[in-house]
Amino acid sequence: MKTAFTAARLFTPTEEISHPLLFVEDGRITRISSRSESELTSDTSVVDFGDATVAPGFLDIHIHGGAGLDVMRAEISELPRLGTFLASHGVTGYFATTVAAPLDKTCAALERLADAIEKPASGDDAPQARPLGIHLEGPFLSHKRRGVHPPECLVEPTVTIFDRLWQAARGHVTMMTIAPEIPGAMEVIAQAARRKVCVSIGHSDAELPIARDAVHAGARHATHTFNAMRPLDHRNPGIIGEVLSDDRISADIIVDGIHVAPEVVKVFLESKGYERAVLITDAMSATGMPNGKYQLGPIEVDVKDGKATHDGSLAGSVLTMDRAVRNVTQFSDWSLRDAVRAATLNPARAVGLSDKFGTIAAGREASFIVLNSRGEVMKTIVGGRGA
Ligand SMILES: [Zn+2]
Repeated sequence: MKTAFTAARLFTPTEEISHPLLFVEDGRITRISSRSESELTSDTSVVDFGDATVAPGFLDIHIHGGAGLDVMRAEISELPRLGTFLASHGVTGYFATTVAAPLDKTCAALERLADAIEKPASGDDAPQARPLGIHLEGPFLSHKRRGVHPPECLVEPTVTIFDRLWQAARGHVTMMTIAPEIPGAMEVIAQAARRKVCVSIGHSDAELPIARDAVHAGARHATHTFNAMRPLDHRNPGIIGEVLSDDRISADIIVDGIHVAPEVVKVFLESKGYERAVLITDAMSATGMPNGKYQLGPIEVDVKDGKATHDGSLAGSVLTMDRAVRNVTQFSDWSLRDAVRAATLNPARAVGLSDKFGTIAAGREASFIVLNSRGEVMKTIVGGRGA
């Protein structure tokens, strides 16, 4: 069956096409053009989204859970519920993100997540965001900047421990947050980079030269910039000075208006620019749920009025990616297209998956979203399903 989707505009997201026609056949995009360039044949059904905008599905490379589910604790059979919830907020792919936990528990979670990643999508399900990889947030984090990660679960990095985690995840570790200043970190950064893992510096008290050494060793991204990092000082800039000034690396940020003040979000966006700024949610299981007590891996978290805390420290967020995108347009002068890019192409590039995800292009899987003029998600289509 051939379908042509049309709307007021389409973000690829590097380009904007007015009055687009997006042709989809058997779950794949076959062609994109504007309405004036293409003729519709009678064997093609047309779906018109009117005044709306078509954009690639969001990719969240740092998410711990949502809809009451924690990715380290959920059964594989429960994950589709998270996938459906995420899809309703425009996410079509995500990296299940761990927190520091006892190593055997982490390995058991990694095995389950690897099963979920390898499980083929079922043809008749509602559109769901799919787990595309695993982000190891910990256990190689700084005690001084651990946030809520349990101190007894932090370990000094060794290639042996990294390999054990890699094996448990059957190679699906696609991203790792690591504090470069802890002994052994540089060797693990180099090893992970050789394995094509996106090494991200974070949860770190590093001085600037160490952060820069990490980039030389293979790090190419930074995790939730400003949060769980040595604060920026204008004479002693530390890791944040490196993250904001080095164009070789991309960096992500939590734009919920709580983790980072809107004015500082603006500074971040201006520093990293349209190509290297990445939005993440760092969302935990309480996302989309009422106030109460929830789990973040092994950590119990209190959630009240949009804030997730453990012993007074922020413990993940209850942010959704569509809201993060809208917040960017409110906190800065970035357009909706710029903000969408930071949630689609930029994360895909950061993690080395831009050949498959983050862009609307002929030959790609037909996974995209439809946004209204306020940036709210009207529809999510994954592999052609959900139209
Ligand atoms: Zn996190």
